[in-house]
Amino acid sequence: MSDSASNPALAADDNTPEKRDFIRSIVREDLASGRHAAIRTRFPPEPNGYLHIGHAKAICLDFGIAAEFGGNCNLRLDDTNPAKEDPEYVRAIQDDVRWLGFDWHSLRHASDYFEVFYLAAEKLIRQGDAFVCDLSADDVRAYRGSLTEPGRNSPYRERSPEENLDLFRRMRAGEFVDGARTLRAKIDMASGNINLRDPALYRIKHVEHQNTGSEWPIYPMYDYAHSLSDAVEGITHSLCTLEFEDHRPLYDWCVDKVDLAHSPELVQPLTDRGLPFEAAKPRQIEFSRLNFNWLVMSKRKLLQLVESGRVHGWDDPRMPTLQGIRRRGYTPSALRLMVDRVGISKQNSLLDISILEGALRDDLDAHAPRRMAVIDPLKLVLTNLDATHEEALVFANHPKDEAAGSRGVPFSRELWIEREDFAEVPPPGFKRLTVGFEVRLRGAGIIRCDEAIKDADGRVVELHGTLDPESRPGMEGANRKVKGTIHWVSATHGVPAEIRLYDRLFTVADPDNDEGGKTYVDYLNPDSRKVVTGYVEPAAAQAANEQGFQFERLGYFVADRYDHKADAPVFNRSVTLRDTWAGKA
Ligand code: ATP
Ligand code: MG
Repeated sequence: MSDSASNPALAADDNTPEKRDFIRSIVREDLASGRHAAIRTRFPPEPNGYLHIGHAKAICLDFGIAAEFGGNCNLRLDDTNPAKEDPEYVRAIQDDVRWLGFDWHSLRHASDYFEVFYLAAEKLIRQGDAFVCDLSADDVRAYRGSLTEPGRNSPYRERSPEENLDLFRRMRAGEFVDGARTLRAKIDMASGNINLRDPALYRIKHVEHQNTGSEWPIYPMYDYAHSLSDAVEGITHSLCTLEFEDHRPLYDWCVDKVDLAHSPELVQPLTDRGLPFEAAKPRQIEFSRLNFNWLVMSKRKLLQLVESGRVHGWDDPRMPTLQGIRRRGYTPSALRLMVDRVGISKQNSLLDISILEGALRDDLDAHAPRRMAVIDPLKLVLTNLDATHEEALVFANHPKDEAAGSRGVPFSRELWIEREDFAEVPPPGFKRLTVGFEVRLRGAGIIRCDEAIKDADGRVVELHGTLDPESRPGMEGANRKVKGTIHWVSATHGVPAEIRLYDRLFTVADPDNDEGGKTYVDYLNPDSRKVVTGYVEPAAAQAANEQGFQFERLGYFVADRYDHKADAPVFNRSVTLRDTWAGKA
């Protein structure tokens, strides 16, 4: 019997090739064996910054795997560290997840469970599995030992459960100052895994919390809160990055010792808040972090770029935040494609940025409508056309996709062409325009350049040319061979546009390398943003915000999410047509 016959959750969508990786294999087995009737995952960002490209991988796995196997995924804001967290980030995180094409089964905050965590801690104390410790942070460190030496027991380790309970309740009541005491798990100070050497479960912190205000003077530690949050939500597969592999024994310890499934009194606070409790024993599974060269992705460094004014905010199109690359013109489908191509492994590695940019090019090549724009304009006057000449040429929106339809592109006597498509003295192999020679104007016919008009400084300011009437579209001479084809925009109809030419933010492939006392800010690319005024055909000006295009011969561009307007267009360059950095790494 096949997997899918035994469990409807395994029935794959016929159109999508089944993805095979070690996490999906585990899920498949757990469903086939009946260990879980349905799966549930969660994406648990800490709301202390904006999500970045690395998070896109976690989001695609958490939400994607749940959807593929007919399960569901929660969005949980891991807000256990009050000082660094901000509602602005919470909003952006929700926006980013939705943008990537996912929706959550339930939106949760780890702080929703503070009361459950507290009751669970009392249970651990009563069981003799946790104690209140009065050692200072420095002493705790000294007692912890090292990778080669075991730690020493805290002198407070043998306090009675009654004394511990009394002290812990007073911690909660706010009787002690920050850092005076901690609640620690009683596990094994000699463990080879330092995470198991009586780790802290609670610390005292008299700080306002974005969700619970001043209700709590104590806050749970990450491993404790995270494992119990998963257990509370009935998470079956808790996917996280490799750095948590050494924390897994502590994760399991917390889940097992607290044993929520058999402790209805601990989950009563959930019921009081109208939250469901679905018991499951969660299993943590680690996968490799996504890292690309040419980027920095740590939230701390990104914050520094923003605060020092080196970029224009978190959503600057040069930033690797999801808000940034979205504004740059990255599409959700390009990111999902990138995540699929990268795959999942247990090996951390630094990937080449061409994988990211390649996924964007492939996605936009397949889906982005084509338009014409000129970013460094030089006027070309076709002297054999009437001053009033005007026609609408019909252009396909996409060369490989008839369903994308067509549009009218106005053509007239005066055109803008790209300055670099003309050369007075053509370099060897030049296939574009030069006086006395011909070139094809994309979709309009063949022209000859007759004259270059110069200003007093000798700079070419205008070209005069003639259009061969026999070479117009549909005419016999239309297929006559000429060396090159150039794009153009009708000067009478073209709309002036602000064009932001973005490039890589750093000049080196490893900006994180601190050699010779330099840091990433020393490698900022001074040419990562250039703003020019160009002209776009009317159909491009009419674009909706965030609509992406291929501007023929120039690259992929997107109508800016915030600044673009039909009467004042603003386009951001998403990526060039080809990799212009190849070989420079
Ligand atoms: P950073 O170190 O960049 O601040 P973080 O790990 O602290 O990131 P969280 O908000 O805690 O960020 O992460 C939420 C989830 O996203 C976690 O499950 C985490 O493992 C995952 N995640 C974070 N960065 C990456 C990455 N580069 N690749 C894959 N998953 C990631
Ligand atoms: Mg974190």
